[in-house]
Amino acid sequence: MHKENRDGTTLWYCSRRQAGGCRAHVKLHQDQHGVLDAQGDHDHEPPQYYRTRDGQFVRY
Ligand SMILES: [Zn+2]
Repeated sequence: MHKENRDGTTLWYCSRRQAGGCRAHVKLHQDQHGVLDAQGDHDHEPPQYYRTRDGQFVRY
C-alpha cells in the first residue's frame, strides 16, 4: 500500500493502517533504501518493518 509521487519518492503507510487505523507513514526514495521523512504517530508500538501490498517488507 503505497503511493508514488512525481518527485521520485514513495509514501509507505504503516501495516496497521487498515487494521487499526494507524496514521503513521514514511516517505522513501523509490529505490526503498532511504527514509526521507517520517510523519504521524503510531497508536501502537512502532513496527520494525512496513509491509507492502505485494508482501515486501520495508525496514523503518
Ligand atoms: Zn503504526
